[in-house]
Amino acid sequence: MTDSSPGAGVQTTNSSDTSTASGSDTSMTLAALQDVIERTYGLRDRSRGVSTSVAWLCEEVGELAQAIRKGTPAQQRHEFADVVAWVVSLANQMDVDLAEAVNGRYAAGCPRCGTIPCSCPM
Ligand SMILES: [Zn+2]
Repeated sequence: MTDSSPGAGVQTTNSSDTSTASGSDTSMTLAALQDVIERTYGLRDRSRGVSTSVAWLCEEVGELAQAIRKGTPAQQRHEFADVVAWVVSLANQMDVDLAEAVNGRYAAGCPRCGTIPCSCPM
């Protein structure tokens, strides 16, 4: 597994591109991200199924861990993006609205103690 962006398994033309996204909008909403990932990889990822995407996500988490440990900032950004993309692809496949899910869980602070910053015992 080398090209492990969502949709992996079929070579894409830009699979070795490690540059940042071509878009300059750094304030993309989760809904917009879910939409573009759906349009880009939805059919492909759905055809392989959730368990395959989970496997790819796990692989990417491992690559992110490695990049954090010994990668360049560019490599770290690349791996963060891939992990997020796989989470988003899975949310799409599971019909989960990520903004709703995240808001519902974290918008009011720690879901356990209910404060910002978290005051749970460490
Ligand atoms: Zn807490």
